[in-house]
Amino acid sequence: MKSITDTFKEKKLKLTPQRIAVYKYLKSTKEHPSAETIYRTLQPDFPTMSLATVYKALNTFVEVGLVQELNVGEGNFRYDSNVHSHPHIQCITCGKVDDIDLVSLTELNNKVSEFTDYTILSNKVYFYGICKDCKSN
Ligand SMILES: [Zn+2]
Ligand SMILES: [Zn+2]
Repeated sequence: MKSITDTFKEKKLKLTPQRIAVYKYLKSTKEHPSAETIYRTLQPDFPTMSLATVYKALNTFVEVGLVQELNVGEGNFRYDSNVHSHPHIQCITCGKVDDIDLVSLTELNNKVSEFTDYTILSNKVYFYGICKDCKSN
């Protein structure tokens, strides 16, 4: 496993403790947090860090391809440190976002390519539903 320091150096990113904390947190979670969630989570350790700093760090990570930005609708952005193309599902009740490991997007790309005669460069697949926790409430 490459260290965060190495990854940052490779992408020519300045190593600030706050940036490292944001990226480390994203690496450690599968929850696809929003910038606000990241901000709130890191707040106790970085009381001087502003929400704007979190946004700036996230935008930088997206630009250099370290983080994937998910537009889950209504100007609602979530962040994922898994930058490989994979489908997501969002609960319309509580807003949580999960990965769908079952569906292969490569397979879907091939099918769409065959059907449309396009060369597929990328795709974004979102499913919407009601999660288990919300169903039982
Ligand atoms: Zn839910
Ligand atoms: Zn994901």
